[in-house]
Amino acid sequence: MTEERDVVVIGSGPAGLTAAIYSARARLAPMVLEGEPSSTSDQPGGQLMLTTEIENYPGFVDGILGPELMARFRDQAARFGADLVTTRATRVDLSKEPFEVWTTAGGADQPAVSAQSIIVATGAQALMLGVPGEDRLLGHGVSTCATCDGFFFRDKPVAVVGGGDSALEEALFLTRFASQVTVVHRRKELRASKIMQDRAFASDRIVFEWDAVVDEVLGDSSVRGLAVHDVSSGETRILDVAGVFVAIGHRPNTALFDGQLAMADNGYIRTFEGSRSSVPGVFVCGDVQDSVYRQAVTAAGSGCMAAIDVERWLESRGR
Ligand code: NAP
Repeated sequence: MTEERDVVVIGSGPAGLTAAIYSARARLAPMVLEGEPSSTSDQPGGQLMLTTEIENYPGFVDGILGPELMARFRDQAARFGADLVTTRATRVDLSKEPFEVWTTAGGADQPAVSAQSIIVATGAQALMLGVPGEDRLLGHGVSTCATCDGFFFRDKPVAVVGGGDSALEEALFLTRFASQVTVVHRRKELRASKIMQDRAFASDRIVFEWDAVVDEVLGDSSVRGLAVHDVSSGETRILDVAGVFVAIGHRPNTALFDGQLAMADNGYIRTFEGSRSSVPGVFVCGDVQDSVYRQAVTAAGSGCMAAIDVERWLESRGR
């Protein structure tokens, strides 16, 4: 049977759950399709489930762990009556109203829910290098999450690929376990913020492999090295590592909306006047529409905007 809702929120990171808190408090009884734990791109709670300490979310003076922060967002949404469903949206039809959404739980035959409005908060996921060995050894020494997998590398050397805040955050976290952390960066300057750079340079367990491009992840059933080459000399080198953490940025999760919502050239969903998408009644928030700020707090702020925009839109239609 197809359920009918005024608001369906797709995604349950900071943006989706803030949209849920606000729309639930506005008595819109939102249904939140929160994703599935087994999925890499749609895990409930979003990317913060894969992070460690969050030190810059306002209000948490001593920091808070990502998963704990998301558990609090979720409890708050549930407290106001948001209907949190552990399932993944598999297809949407935005060509007619009410909109229709299919889910893994509801199957492919009929839409699980029809919605007067939709809030898209599907977030982004980690980019991969695309080099030989990476895919094959994912989960066997190749990882995108130090919090999840760092423990397996106690007293072993590891590499982190990337030069942004994510890479240094991963590297710093890994110093708790690994014997040595080599940050492999394709340039000589880091992109990361000054405070993260200062911390990484101060660690005696972190070393840098500058101007280095990864060619291959080596190993049969587990990682035994990383082949890199120097961008200027072309010289190749093998780093002796047991783990490789890829931290080179993210791409927005937009596949559900291909051909239905306008996207910017960089692949992120376009928004107009706040959180409006190119389809009236569909609103967008969080990392799926933000290639610039990508912070938990900005995602949460945009989720609030989407909920307020939905409320006004439904009101204007007499609902
Ligand atoms: P990012 O800032 O886009 O950095 C990506 C890094 O990966 C860059 O150094 C880039 O090199 C490198 N890279 C990209 N593609 C590559 C490839 N194919 N091969 C090798 N290297 C590649 O991404 P991010 O670090 O995930 O950060 C995203 C946003 O989240 C930023 O705004 C960041 O400040 C924020 N963030 C904040 C915190 C914090 O405050 N604690 C933690 C994590 C993330 P180039 O520099 O040469 O382009």
